Amino acid sequence: MTAVETKTLIDPHGGRLVDRTGPRPDGVERLEQLPLTSRELSDLDMLASGALSPLEGFMGPHDYERVVEEMRLERGLPWALPVCLAVDEAPRGDVAALADEAGTLLATLEVEDVYDYDREREAERCFRTTDAEHPGVARLFEQQPRYLAGRVTVFERPQPPFLELALDPAETRAVFAERGWKRVVGFQTRNPIHRAHEYLTKVALETVDGLLIHPLVGDTKSDDVPAKTRVECYRVLVDNYYPASRVLVSAFPAAMRYAGPREAIWHAICRKNFGCSHFIVGRDHAGVGSYYGTYDAQLIFDEFEPHELDIEPMFFEHSFWCNTCGSMASAKTCPHDSSAHVFLSGTKVRELLANGELPPVEFSRPEVAEVLIEAYRTA
Ligand SMILES: [Zn+2]
Repeated sequence: MTAVETKTLIDPHGGRLVDRTGPRPDGVERLEQLPLTSRELSDLDMLASGALSPLEGFMGPHDYERVVEEMRLERGLPWALPVCLAVDEAPRGDVAALADEAGTLLATLEVEDVYDYDREREAERCFRTTDAEHPGVARLFEQQPRYLAGRVTVFERPQPPFLELALDPAETRAVFAERGWKRVVGFQTRNPIHRAHEYLTKVALETVDGLLIHPLVGDTKSDDVPAKTRVECYRVLVDNYYPASRVLVSAFPAAMRYAGPREAIWHAICRKNFGCSHFIVGRDHAGVGSYYGTYDAQLIFDEFEPHELDIEPMFFEHSFWCNTCGSMASAKTCPHDSSAHVFLSGTKVRELLANGELPPVEFSRPEVAEVLIEAYRTA
């Protein structure tokens, strides 16, 4: 792929797609080895592929400070969440080797800085809470006490969980260009897609050239639906209800942070790197429990000038099937009383599926429900 072929697509964040992959250096096994957590491994792989452009490594103190306080990198570019590597103490040499939990060497890091950070402040600023019950805050509080900064070079990419869905930003960009898409909307999801989300992805697609369904496949909470089941749901949904020439399903390798509004900005910036010009932000994007207001993840986009992010957020309200309208709708488009709406609570849906019963077709496509029923049956 050359730059010329994708010139009609949105520019990566900061103007250039970073590539931090490289050959395995001689003698790497003699370097001090640092084991990464699964979240850090996700970040490392996204640094390698350019999904976190313009970042080339784990953040230093100046970027970190400004990101936490102002949602900007030191140079002023918007950036919503720290991308940091937590360590116990400074490594001995100028270069360290980064490894997974099994000890497989993956990358080198050129040591630039080791600095202290304040967990409470990071939690308060980035998660808007210091409650240790919050899964993102809990993980932050368990981290090692210092951050190690430096540029990385990745020579061993971890085996992706879904090989056929693993596309780097350069690859999704190549697909978009090959299909002649200029305006592409990205859809982040960590849940099976029911009619409500199908509706908003299709409403968005009506106004652009293509849709990237980009399920997050990194770490999630243990009570979220497992990625394997979700991926099967996306397959049957797309095969049966979307035109193949207008949609691409690919995996987003990030780990969930559950940082709500800030994570919505972060998700949008990452998708810009994958070549999306638009990004869907629904209710309580990347939220958890009741830590964030329903539309906080939409309101936070107002803290930036539109040209700063470049990628355009598309905001959606809760949608539902309305029996009187005879279609999917939302409070914006349907004047009828909620008694005309098909509404099922998450608890009710889980109860039906666990009993092997299909939810109403107005709520869930039967093909998707069958996958979920089968997952319950074999769980
Ligand atoms: Zn209606």
